[in-house]
Amino acid sequence: MHVAFIGMGANLGHREATIRAALDRLRQAPGVAAVTSSSLHETAAVGGPAGQPPYLNGAARIETTLEPEPLLDLLLNIERMLGRVRREKWGPRIIDLDLLLFDDRVIDTPRLTVPHPRLHERRFVLEPLAEVAGEVRHPVLNQTIPELLARLPGAG
Ligand code: ADP
Ligand code: MG
Repeated sequence: MHVAFIGMGANLGHREATIRAALDRLRQAPGVAAVTSSSLHETAAVGGPAGQPPYLNGAARIETTLEPEPLLDLLLNIERMLGRVRREKWGPRIIDLDLLLFDDRVIDTPRLTVPHPRLHERRFVLEPLAEVAGEVRHPVLNQTIPELLARLPGAG
């Protein structure tokens, strides 16, 4: 069994309902067990086109028998089932599901980078992740999630 962490974000439509629906799909997916989720945090959109609506962000811890690529396929399928249409890069979206961490693996292929390359610099990812990640360490930076949060610019 593997342990993976998923980042979730939505800034269009009924954001909370969509994130809950994504969690339900994850729970029901073959090869996925023990889904636990963080609270949902509202954050202003960072980057992308100006004037985007604010995001609701959360994180989930899952136990899974899936390998990373099939897990990515599952996440992209759930995004599609919930109605995400890809338009501009970093534009507004119904749902975004990112694979943040997968065991202590380091993956760099054209389709998949794990740990997620911007995980450690995004407060809106790290704060919900801290609620579900416990003592887990970033396998490249060798720091826990609270340690990564403390390193962010502007952190007390
Ligand atoms: P972003 O999440 O950066 O806003 P998208 O959700 O549109 O961008 O994802 C674009 C592509 O990023 C996906 O098709 C996927 O192949 C790739 N990708 C690479 N690494 C990851 C990862 N760790 N989690 C999710 N997608 C990833
Ligand atoms: Mg994404």
